[in-house]
Amino acid sequence: MIKRVATLSVHTSPLDQPGTGDAGGMNVYIVETAKRLAERGVEVDIFTRATSRALPPKVELAPGVMVRNIQAGPFEELDKSELPAELCSFTSGLLRVEASHEPGHYDVVHSHYWLSGQPGWVAAHRWGVPLVHSMHTLAKVKNANLAVGDKPEPVLRVAGEEQVVADAHKLIANTADEARELVDMYGADPGRVETVVPGVNLRLFRPGDKQAARRRLDLPAGAFVLLFVGRIQPLKAPDILVRAAARMLDHDPALRSRLVVAIVGGPSGSGRERPEELQKLAARLGIADVVRFEPPAPQEELARWYTAADVTVVPSHNESFGLVAVESQACGTPVVASAVGGLRTAVGHGVSGVLIDGHDPRDYAAVLGRLAHEPHLLERYGAGAVRHAGVFGWSSTVDRLLEVYNCAVYNRVCV
Ligand code: UDP
Repeated sequence: MIKRVATLSVHTSPLDQPGTGDAGGMNVYIVETAKRLAERGVEVDIFTRATSRALPPKVELAPGVMVRNIQAGPFEELDKSELPAELCSFTSGLLRVEASHEPGHYDVVHSHYWLSGQPGWVAAHRWGVPLVHSMHTLAKVKNANLAVGDKPEPVLRVAGEEQVVADAHKLIANTADEARELVDMYGADPGRVETVVPGVNLRLFRPGDKQAARRRLDLPAGAFVLLFVGRIQPLKAPDILVRAAARMLDHDPALRSRLVVAIVGGPSGSGRERPEELQKLAARLGIADVVRFEPPAPQEELARWYTAADVTVVPSHNESFGLVAVESQACGTPVVASAVGGLRTAVGHGVSGVLIDGHDPRDYAAVLGRLAHEPHLLERYGAGAVRHAGVFGWSSTVDRLLEVYNCAVYNRVCV
């Protein structure tokens, strides 16, 4: 029986607010699965890099879930690209924590993102336990789907990912597509790749009172609200929504009196270099009065945003899953998304929203413009959205995760 898991999250802490910088879906995934593992009697220690001198070495996130802040490199101002130089000291801190326990303390190491896979690989060898690894995003896939002008992922990352793929006992893919990419693009052994679909907090994200949510967020009752939630970076392409909105207004000027585009999130990745870019784009397109920018919000507040919106738009160039899409649907708000990666699983095309091929703002404007005038269709997609999201509970994710841990520990074939 699995009693303790060492979860590694080197480059971003589960205590960080998702939706800006390096914190996003992976943080939510780690927190949600750790809490549910603990509820089932499996203790989880989450190891992350300390980013402030003020952080104590241990912080209890929930009963049975401990965040362990390992000192590795300078506390602040360290970019993700500089982290490979600190992996050695992180690994040393990780091994020291385990050495303070009785031998055999952890049953399994679960590393998240390639930067954690590297220390995970050393720790798993040293402790004689299996390494289970989740990629979250794949550099080769990201590089094949870059937005114009975005920076490709470096060769260093590709090589680091290949090493982790070769060494992990089990690789966890979010979808069957990602499982195939691991095999076809990284040469992963298909017998080691397991698909574990992420979830959504169905207690928090559920249909609510739209008008009450609008009042709380100061949105007009009769507005047509288009929502973007997530890290502001070229890969997520919020600019496509802004361009589509401008085009909708060109074709349908009367819509200006009720169109609101809300963008919730903070700069991330190469978007950090030009944090004002999206505001400038809205101004250049003459729609600054229509677009409302909001800082990253805690999930309770996000639930209110999803409820208040008519459509959530996810125009990403690549998405290994797309938690935002599922959260929105769970609140009964349809999603218009690009037909890429995990979004093809996360969104039910023609059932809970619309998937769009390519990244042409004109295509988004055409679909969204139609929805602005077809409340019955929106209502139908809204009902479909609740049904579609209902199958993605975190407890099924954790059932499956435990199965994968057990298969790795007892060397069984997973079914
Ligand atoms: N998120 C949040 N506050 C924000 C923006 C995003 O808590 O202001 C959360 C959101 O609820 C979702 C996650 O960040 O769970 C983003 O996950 P997703 O899979 O959509 O994108 P990723 O960040 O993994 O690229």
